[in-house]
Amino acid sequence: MLRIPRVVKDFSSFFSDAGFQCYLVGGAVRDMLLGRKIQDFDIASDALPKQVTDIFRRVIPTGIKHGTVTVLFKGTRFEVTTFRIDQEYRDGRRPDSVVFSPSIQEDLKRRDFTINAMAYDLIHHQLLDPHGGRKDLKAGIIRAIGDPFERFQEDGLRPLRACRFAAQFGFTIEEGTFASIPTSIDTVKRVSAERIRDELIRILETSSPSLGLSLLNDCGILKLILPELAACQYVGQGELHRYDVYQHLLYACDAAPQDNLVVRLAALFHDLGKPQALISTDQGEIQFHRHEQLSAVLTEKILRRLRFSNRIVNRVRHLVAQHMFHYEDRWSDAAVRRFISRVGVENIQDILSLRRADQLAMVGQRFVSGSLIALEKRIESVLAEDRVLNLRNLAVNGNDLIHELGIPRGPKIGIVLDALLESVLDDPGQNERERLLKIAKGFYETRLRED
Ligand code: ATP
Ligand code: MG
Repeated sequence: MLRIPRVVKDFSSFFSDAGFQCYLVGGAVRDMLLGRKIQDFDIASDALPKQVTDIFRRVIPTGIKHGTVTVLFKGTRFEVTTFRIDQEYRDGRRPDSVVFSPSIQEDLKRRDFTINAMAYDLIHHQLLDPHGGRKDLKAGIIRAIGDPFERFQEDGLRPLRACRFAAQFGFTIEEGTFASIPTSIDTVKRVSAERIRDELIRILETSSPSLGLSLLNDCGILKLILPELAACQYVGQGELHRYDVYQHLLYACDAAPQDNLVVRLAALFHDLGKPQALISTDQGEIQFHRHEQLSAVLTEKILRRLRFSNRIVNRVRHLVAQHMFHYEDRWSDAAVRRFISRVGVENIQDILSLRRADQLAMVGQRFVSGSLIALEKRIESVLAEDRVLNLRNLAVNGNDLIHELGIPRGPKIGIVLDALLESVLDDPGQNERERLLKIAKGFYETRLRED
C-alpha cells in the first residue's frame, strides 16, 4: 500500500519479534501519501520506553517523560513514543501528565489535525485513518480533530501549526477550525517563545512565507507574536511604492532565498522602523530618514524575544542596519573595498540577496536594477584580487602595536588598527609591516597620545 523504506521495515520487525505493535505515525504517513520527502520517522507502539531500550542498542531518552525515546538504527533516527492519552491541559501549554494507553486509536485521538492522525501498521501493512485524514489530504484541508475550540484550548501552539501546515502544503484551513482561532488567542499567548519561534521558522522555510504570515494576520496571531510587523499595515510609502510597508516586507521575504533563514528574516524585518521614521515634507513627500537604524533595533528586540541564537540575532540585525547602500558607477575600487569591509566579507552575499529581494518586492519590478548587477560584478572582481578587507589580514596586529610602538593596551589599539585598515583599503600596497608601523606611529602620536 504505502512504499515503506527497507530500513523502516527492518526496524519494525524487531517490534513484531518481541510481540509489540509498531505504527508509523504523524508527519511521515502524511508526507508519504503526499509524495513528499520524509523528514523524520515517528513510531507509535505499545512497548514502554524501558522495553524499547531493551530491544535496541542505541537509544537516547529524548522525551522520556512524554514516553518518547530516540532509536538510532542503521544510520536512521526513529522517535518512538508509547501510545498515550494526554491528560488535563490546564495551562494551555503542554499536557500536564501523560497516561500510556494500550490502543493506537486513543493515541490518534490526541493528535492535532486529521491529516496528522493517520497511522500505518508496519506489521499488518494497513493504513488506519479513523478521522478521515486521507480525504482531507486529497481535498487539501487542515481540520482539527473533534471540537477545534477545545483542541486549541488544550495547546495554543495548534493554531500556529494550522497556519504553518496550510502554508507548507498550499491547503486551506477548514472554516470551523479557522473560526476557532481568534477566540483561542488567550491560549496562544501562553505558548513559550521557543515553540513559537520554531513554527515561525517553519513558515519562513516554505516557498512563499507571505501565505503563512497572511493567515497568521487574518486570524489575529500576527499582532500577538510580531506586533512590530503588524503595525506596518496601511503605512504608505509615497509614489514609488504602491505596496504599504507590511506588504512590501512580506513580498521581500518571499523573494529572499528559501534556504537562507538569515536573509529571509532580514527581508521580513528590514523596514520595520518605517512607521516610526515617517515624515511628510512640506512638499507632500514621504521620507523615512535613517529608518534602517530603527529597523535594526526592532529586529534585535524581536529576535531576542523569540529566543533566536546570538549568531542569528547579530547577523540579521547587521544586514538590516546595512541595507541602505547606494551604489554608483563612479565608486572607486577603494570605495568598493570599503563597502565590503563595512558589511563584512562573510555577509556580502547575504546583503546582495537582501537587496535583490527588496527590489523584487517593489510594485511592477520584475528584474533587479542594473546598478545592483553592476555592484555585484565590481564586488566579484574586488574579491578575486584577494586584497586585505578586514583586520585579520593586516600585516600588523594589536600585539605589534603594543610591543613595537609602546601603545598601551586598551581601546586605542582598536582605533589605530581601524585607521590602518582604512589606509590599506585605500591603497593595498601599504600592507607591509614596516610601513604600517610607521603609519601607526604617526597616527598615534598626532591623534591619540595624551602625554
Ligand atoms: P513535520 O515534522 O513535517 O513538521 P509533523 O506532523 O511530523 O510535521 P511533528 O511536530 O514532528 O510534526 O509531530 C509529529 C506528530 O505529533 C504530528 O503529526 C501530530 O500527529 C502530533 N503532534 C505534534 N504536535 C502536536 C500538538 N501540538 N498537538 C497535537 N498533536 C501534535
Ligand atoms: Mg515530524
